[in-house]
Amino acid sequence: MRTIIEPFRVKVVEPIRMTTREERDAYLKEVWYNLFLLRSENVIIDLLTDSGTAAMSSEQWAAIMRGDESYAGSSSFYRFEAVVHDLYGFKHIIPTHQGRAAERILFSVMCKPGQIVPNNTHFDTTRANIEYTGAEAMDLPIPAFYEPSVYHPFKGNMDAEQLRTLIGRLGPGRIPLVMLTVTSNSGGGQPVSMANIREVKEVCSRYGIPLYLDACRFAENAYFIKLREKGYEDKSVEEIAREMFSLVDGCTMSAKKDGLANIGGFLCTNDDLLAQQEKDLLILTEGFPTYGGLAGRDLDAIAVGLREVLQEDYLQYRFASINYLGRHISDGGVPIVEPPGGHAIFIDAKAMLPHIPPEQYPGQALAVELYREAGIRSCEIGSVMLAQRNPCGDGEKPAAMELVRLAIPHRVFTQSHIDYVIEAILQVHERRETIRGYSIVYQPPFLRHFSARFEPYDEASAAKRKPAYATSIVA
Ligand SMILES: *Cc1c(COP(=O)(O)O)cnc(C)c1O
Repeated sequence: MRTIIEPFRVKVVEPIRMTTREERDAYLKEVWYNLFLLRSENVIIDLLTDSGTAAMSSEQWAAIMRGDESYAGSSSFYRFEAVVHDLYGFKHIIPTHQGRAAERILFSVMCKPGQIVPNNTHFDTTRANIEYTGAEAMDLPIPAFYEPSVYHPFKGNMDAEQLRTLIGRLGPGRIPLVMLTVTSNSGGGQPVSMANIREVKEVCSRYGIPLYLDACRFAENAYFIKLREKGYEDKSVEEIAREMFSLVDGCTMSAKKDGLANIGGFLCTNDDLLAQQEKDLLILTEGFPTYGGLAGRDLDAIAVGLREVLQEDYLQYRFASINYLGRHISDGGVPIVEPPGGHAIFIDAKAMLPHIPPEQYPGQALAVELYREAGIRSCEIGSVMLAQRNPCGDGEKPAAMELVRLAIPHRVFTQSHIDYVIEAILQVHERRETIRGYSIVYQPPFLRHFSARFEPYDEASAAKRKPAYATSIVA
């Protein structure tokens, strides 16, 4: 059969409340055109993030009932630990309430002010947690990463030559660890090849620097390797994932992504001394090492989710569905980041709305129109989220790209939901020349995208305002 179907049946349904365009116009005004401030009940198709939004399976719900809520030595922990140990292979497995808690603990233990942590591209919580220790987070992607329309099978790869030069210049003492984010979230869910992991590991080994994976979407990355890297076509995704982990010294993980759970994360390492220091810190803020900020039932749900996400018919359907969305809008003339990533489609708003300058936030304008048109919530990943303030106070430096992310939650939407999204995007594309930009009328000192207020752009009032600094954290 050529038709790829959802490899699951629906057992529980959650009604979607349909809204009219007039209602949505009013909601947009109420929330100052900031989609983070919408009530989810007023959203028809929520593509804000795939993080923690997965539909759990009947096996996960059954596992939830098995949860052991003992404070110490919970059997849920041992079930969770056994699965992570089997798939990831690390010696020490430390649960945390979500990915960023694992990051905070790892970097608190490993980083000092003045040091540098290279990554293919840091996710924003990773960057923020590194910079909080006084170290610097540095991105070393390959050049194709910054060109949305250019096809590259492993656009998430790190530029290993640049890494070699950097270590040669600074000396290994300045670099406490190197990370690879699989898949690279910030740039469209683009994968990293096994050859690249191996090459980066060789560079690190030569200088005695540990290599860690930011492993949030390890299963999607492994499936890309199976589909695109020579020599892996006949290996199972599980074998490929094991090989990825066997090449590195540890990892951070958000179970809200490829753990198919609604909450959770963990930190892994093979280093006994580090593990002890990490557990000491864990007790301070997350909890005892056999629960680490999670309920026993959450650990059980993750244990089941980590195995389910490696099922190849599931990954085949997920990629087919995301590709279907990408191909249909791209065939209709909508510029997207090529090729489609593992968890999302990114629309290139700069190319779609060339008449809106970055200072008027084309990504935000497009996200607002998708909501107005059809109640679809997406996420701007452009200058609203990533612009940098001029240190002297006035103005800001626009982000490198103006993207709108349509993240697909795991197992939540069917083919007809995706068809609805395609129709809406094509309709908005049809009237793209009538879309206008926005200005920010209120913003907090940091993480502005969560609470900023916008108004449709108008020249006279914009002249009076001075945008300020922003960094970002979004899942
Ligand atoms: C989501 C994410 C994180 C942070 O995980 P949380 O569970 O949201 O704290 C870190 N890195 C990447 C690549 C992510 O996608």
